[in-house]
Amino acid sequence: MNRNIKIENVYCIGRNFIEHAKELNNEIPPKPLIFQKPNSSINTDNTIEIPRGENIDHEVEIVLLVGKTGIPKNPQEAKGFISGFSLGLDLTKRKLQTELKAKGLPWFPAKSFKGSAVLDDNFKNECPNEFHLIVNQEKRQTGRVKDMIFSFEDIILHLSKVVSLKRGDIIFTGTPEGVGPLKRGDQIEMGFINHTPKECVVI
Ligand code: ZN
Repeated sequence: MNRNIKIENVYCIGRNFIEHAKELNNEIPPKPLIFQKPNSSINTDNTIEIPRGENIDHEVEIVLLVGKTGIPKNPQEAKGFISGFSLGLDLTKRKLQTELKAKGLPWFPAKSFKGSAVLDDNFKNECPNEFHLIVNQEKRQTGRVKDMIFSFEDIILHLSKVVSLKRGDIIFTGTPEGVGPLKRGDQIEMGFINHTPKECVVI
């Protein structure tokens, strides 16, 4: 479903899993930490081209598709804004991000390169409770919705205090622990439990 939808803005949530916040020595945020990627970062292909000479980390995340335009007022309305669930990779120039963080600067340059928002655009109606990332047949990341610090409704309500959501927006909802570098030739598989995974190769 929804394969033909035009994707608008790409919002991301940082540190939504306690174990991931810990692995990067970050504090647990009191409210959702929001950042953005440009629309030009979206890659729905089966090849992932990573910039040369950079260390690029994978972060597998559940991606919400926003189906309404406007501002929800309560959790029930917020839930009604979600029209689909899928998976994506929030690719990150980790070394650059660490340098920017140390200087108190925005992460934008580390998160926004062409192809840095890998997206399975085969959105589902229901959100399976578990997802994973496999690299070269080794399971690197497993995430469970119940382990998220902020629920999807919390994220949408908080995001709506900052921006006006638009139909076609997507929201990366944060990665579980196990982030790590990708290299050329890696075979990637990201999927929900009991669903056909999306397979990609890194070039
Ligand atoms: Zn992320």
